[in-house]
Amino acid sequence: MATISSSKNAFIQGRWTSEDSSRLYGIPDWGKGYVGVNNDGHITVLPTKDPAKQIDIFEVVEGLKQRGVHTPVLLRFNDLLEHRLREIRNAFDSSMAEHAYTGGYSCVYPIKVNQQRHVCEQIASLAVDLRFGLEAGSKPELLAVLGLSATAGGPGVNGMPIICNGFKDSEFIETVILATKLGRNIIPVVEKFDELELIVKHAKTYNVRPKIGVRIKLSSRGAGRWESSAGVRSKFGLFVSEVLRAVDYLKKHDMLDCLNLVHCHVGSQLYDIRVLKNAINELTHIYCELHRLGAGVTMLDIGGGMGVDYDGSQSAWSSSINYSVQEYAADVVYRIKSVCDDAKVPHPLIISESGRAMVAYGSVLVVDVVGASKFEQNPDMPAIDRAMTDEKARGGEVPQPVLDLLDAYQNMTDRNLLESYHDATQARDEAMSLFSLGYMSLPMRAIAEQLFWAIGHKLLEKATKRGELPDEFESLPELLSDIYFCNFSLFQSMPDSWAIDQLFPIAPIHRLTEEPTRKGILADITCDSDGKIDHFVDKRIDKKTLELHELSDRPEGEVGIEPYYLGVFLLGAYQEILGDLHNLLGDTHAVHISINDAGQWSIEEVIEGDTVEEVLSYVQYDVDDIKRAMRLDIEAACRQGRLTLGEGKSLLKYYDDGLEGYTYLEE
Ligand SMILES: *Cc1c(COP(=O)(O)O)cnc(C)c1O
Repeated sequence: MATISSSKNAFIQGRWTSEDSSRLYGIPDWGKGYVGVNNDGHITVLPTKDPAKQIDIFEVVEGLKQRGVHTPVLLRFNDLLEHRLREIRNAFDSSMAEHAYTGGYSCVYPIKVNQQRHVCEQIASLAVDLRFGLEAGSKPELLAVLGLSATAGGPGVNGMPIICNGFKDSEFIETVILATKLGRNIIPVVEKFDELELIVKHAKTYNVRPKIGVRIKLSSRGAGRWESSAGVRSKFGLFVSEVLRAVDYLKKHDMLDCLNLVHCHVGSQLYDIRVLKNAINELTHIYCELHRLGAGVTMLDIGGGMGVDYDGSQSAWSSSINYSVQEYAADVVYRIKSVCDDAKVPHPLIISESGRAMVAYGSVLVVDVVGASKFEQNPDMPAIDRAMTDEKARGGEVPQPVLDLLDAYQNMTDRNLLESYHDATQARDEAMSLFSLGYMSLPMRAIAEQLFWAIGHKLLEKATKRGELPDEFESLPELLSDIYFCNFSLFQSMPDSWAIDQLFPIAPIHRLTEEPTRKGILADITCDSDGKIDHFVDKRIDKKTLELHELSDRPEGEVGIEPYYLGVFLLGAYQEILGDLHNLLGDTHAVHISINDAGQWSIEEVIEGDTVEEVLSYVQYDVDDIKRAMRLDIEAACRQGRLTLGEGKSLLKYYDDGLEGYTYLEE
């Protein structure tokens, strides 16, 4: 028997409050102090975790609407990003102080996690103060990072570390060598042996003493989804035998002092800290051995992988992590220190490439619900009676399964729930096979379906009142839940939800002083049946429906529903860049919001999403061509009298406006 968290309790204790909503959606668990609910029942973002400085995101969305910026919209919180960076800095600073660690720490931001210029520029501008740096994993990323570091660290002085991972060709390496000459603190990390040969070659040509790193294939395995990032079968890095060959090679070229950094990357979203501890242990031993062999090692780069607790459960589970930033820092510092102290090797500068942990919290997507599909809870009995009478009038008979369903519905009591359920399921199955064999009319089938769903609802209601759900009914809540259609594309805005079943916290951003009385799954506006969300974060259970508020109709005379907005949180890492153009739904608008010391928020920047014209041009349409084709067609229709001139003009105008407009639904 599964217990049901009864919302009845709230009713008994009094009015539904913001705190009830906060608890229901697990906001304190996954929000980690960055997200709250205010007394108006709106979600707030606390960019510095200071309760005196809250941004009411419902207010922001309304404000944006007045400025003509429609949902879906991605909100980025600059101060939150900064707070997160400082939190990582402080965690390492305090761990280093505690363990008397003398080597220092630097976090380099791998821009692949979110390459948006505004995000990278902000990180680059904080990098000097925080002693952070940037990481590039490809040629385009290198060029971006070289540009970003020009405005930030300044050449030579205080140069932020720039780590170059990924496969490199000769041109890439030549650029790196020349950038070293320019004064950049740039470290190419050798992923395969011939890169080392190219580094040595270009360094000689330009007479540069480069800083060289090597990525090592550890024997420690990674874990979880990205477990193949490490281990001897990983795509990247040198075997230990190759590392030794590299030492000989550099020695031969009198460049062993240039071998400054060892690197590993055991995978992303490491949910179990033990995996990291093992890898760091092994990497540090290799570092110490290289030191003993005379390499000029000064930096130990532990790669990325610092995870984010998406579901708030603080557990070793794929959408969670079983450690805090502070514990991560403490473990890393302590491990490296112990191994180095034992080997009597000076403490290296620790580098981590913690992309996800830096940026995940910084972005929130707000989507509007455009409608819902739900199963009728209360069948329309007079209509059912009428349909049965009509059926008889036509000389038909009301089929037995329909009568059985009617009986089950009308005579259900608290005592015969299971029996009613079995009867109903059997009758429904019989009804469907009669229909398939041609022995049942469409109106009778409609009644059978309606009654079946109504029985389901009634059962659930009765079972819920008792506070327990028989195992047989366990799938009933999902089966009977609503589908809320949301104005966004899963493939564009949260691709990992589709690709790897990553969970992201979702909650309504308003109406939180009202008890949500519906349960549903979410569907996007793509035509893809995969474009739906049917797993939701929860600390304890595998939650398959989300509590939602009843949608309300607009006032008399107006079409549609009152706005209802949902927020999707922790989208800052990977989602923006991995998103694709499925159904030609493009980038959403993105808005940067900051808050001043007085607690007032302001819009720093509005980056407009793709227009239809833009997405069409990505797939090689010539907008002028298609406009011309439409114009000619409309012209001909007017000539032949199929359209009036006025109608032709309107259609052309909608077409033109549509091309310039947002790819998502607008009011
Ligand atoms: C992807 C990647 C990272 C970032 O990993 P996170 O899990 O986001 O911290 C760091 N280093 C390398 C080499 C990577 O490939």
